Amino acid sequence: MKIDVSQIKKEIGARQQYSFAIPDSISRSEGCRFKNLWLDITLLNQVDYLEANGQIHGIAECLCDRCLTEFTKKIEMPFTERFRTHAGGYWTAEDDEESAAPFAHDEIDFTRFVKETIMLNAPMRNLCQPDCRGICPECGANLNFAPCGCERQAENPRMAALSQLLKEE
Ligand SMILES: [Zn+2]
Ligand SMILES: [Zn+2]
Repeated sequence: MKIDVSQIKKEIGARQQYSFAIPDSISRSEGCRFKNLWLDITLLNQVDYLEANGQIHGIAECLCDRCLTEFTKKIEMPFTERFRTHAGGYWTAEDDEESAAPFAHDEIDFTRFVKETIMLNAPMRNLCQPDCRGICPECGANLNFAPCGCERQAENPRMAALSQLLKEE
């Protein structure tokens, strides 16, 4: 996912658009498998930096943390990033000069950027629906479909144990 910026960096206000298929090998996330992931970028020469606007989009197949059912969701991760020139190289404006890894002279490689964007956007939990009821710990039934007979029994002993603990304290 490398972009040759030798032309765009010469002309103030120049704009170029790119689209890359993101390789499966770099698009990993806990509990999810990505499909047809794409990186769309518009690069704009803003005099002292190159502005990259775009999004990562596609489909993710994930396992629900609560009910273990597989579900599909749309991925849309918009971003804006600046790449600055320094000593002939480009790097993101967020990096400080010491820790920045300069990009090759006329080339920006978006591989690391894509990996980081996917990681930063990964949800804390994968849920098939916000109020997923999960699985009954007693009989293993998926409680999203129907309440099982033991649901009440499974809940009550726990509540009883809790109130017992509270009494003892
Ligand atoms: Zn679920
Ligand atoms: Zn049950």
